Amino acid sequence: MPAEVCDVCGSTNIKEIKCKLVCQNCGTILRTCADLAVVTLSIEVHRNGS
Ligand SMILES: [Zn+2]
Repeated sequence: MPAEVCDVCGSTNIKEIKCKLVCQNCGTILRTCADLAVVTLSIEVHRNGS
């Protein structure tokens, strides 16, 4: 799994807390459960299409 990088401060100090990816450096929430679900769903659709 590649390391997540904060879009705001560029830190790789990212921690997953209760389905959220939070930058420990600046406190930005980079991704939430909903975002992850959308990504997973789009991957599934792509797989089914091919
Ligand atoms: Zn940050």
